Amino acid sequence: MDFLRPTTWEEALAAKADQPEAVPIQGGTDVMVELNFDVRRPVALLDLTQVAELREWSMTGGHCRVGAAVPYTMVIEELAGPLPGLAQASRTVGSPQIRNRGSVGGNLGAASPAGDSHPPLLAAGAVVEVESRERGVRMIPAAEFYLGVKRSALEPDELIRAVHVPPATGPQYFSKVGTRNAMVIAVCSFAIALHPRERRVGTGIGSAAPTPRRALEAEELLAAELDWEAPLDPALLRRFGDLCARAAAPIDDVRGTAAYRVHAIGVMARRTLTWAWNDHLGKRAA
Ligand SMILES: Cc1cc2nc3c(=O)[nH]c(=O)nc-3n(C[C@H](O)[C@H](O)[C@H](O)COP(=O)(O)OP(=O)(O)OC[C@H]3O[C@@H](n4cnc5c(N)ncnc54)[C@H](O)[C@@H]3O)c2cc1C
Repeated sequence: MDFLRPTTWEEALAAKADQPEAVPIQGGTDVMVELNFDVRRPVALLDLTQVAELREWSMTGGHCRVGAAVPYTMVIEELAGPLPGLAQASRTVGSPQIRNRGSVGGNLGAASPAGDSHPPLLAAGAVVEVESRERGVRMIPAAEFYLGVKRSALEPDELIRAVHVPPATGPQYFSKVGTRNAMVIAVCSFAIALHPRERRVGTGIGSAAPTPRRALEAEELLAAELDWEAPLDPALLRRFGDLCARAAAPIDDVRGTAAYRVHAIGVMARRTLTWAWNDHLGKRAA
């Protein structure tokens, strides 16, 4: 097995262009598990850990640009202000060791329907920055990035460089059901982001469909009927939960049944909207 070790982004793109079958490795918390269990035996590994810029984040053009290698620990410690939904989700990932090594870019690269960063990225309206040597940069909205179970819009010669996330302008929440409180892959999860300036609510469903996805009809319902000055109407809250549950398309598997997941998505949708709405009204009153 070849081990490619670029030290600059340009070298990394060149290596991927010359050897598209090379498997990128960042924190290795997914890749090493697959190698250890012989799930895959790549001809080459493309180690990105020496490309320093991937571990940086910045505020540019009104967006928070999070480098692909930024680990969960950094999201929690440095980005909880502008990206509260992603930070909450990051706190639920694995253990401290996994959060130190595991990255948001690696979560995107793996494109597992159960990845915890996907629902908050969808709810916030994030855009994934990918690049190839031949075709340059592509900006892919998170909602178009996930194509199937562990399949993304990334082409074989492309690498993920960063993810651009609009800083929160309203409350955001993430909720995850697991079989225990830590070191657990989501049975299902849900994220919500209030965008008060646009009078819009973003959603993200995790681990309850072949891909992470938004609950579009539920978002449309709130865009049409939510009164941003008033307490939440219980009937509207119930319809929102029902539409979120209907947006899920889960399967029965070792972690939970499809019926349980549909039920839990409805519950988490109602809960997270209630938490966010209480914050929203509390802020307005303050
Ligand atoms: C014990 C344990 C617990 C875990 N718990 C959770 C959890 O609670 N929630 C959760 O979501 N995940 C969990 N995971 C999975 C894993 O930690 C995450 O998916 C993490 O985000 C992967 O990041 P990484 O940097 O380690 O990726 P890597 O393992 O290095 O890579 C993951 C995938 O992304 C690709 N990739 C990496 N970087 C790039 C890039 N720049 N461009 C293109 N492709 C790239 C790789 O080729 C690979 O396919 C857990 C894993 C373990 C071992």
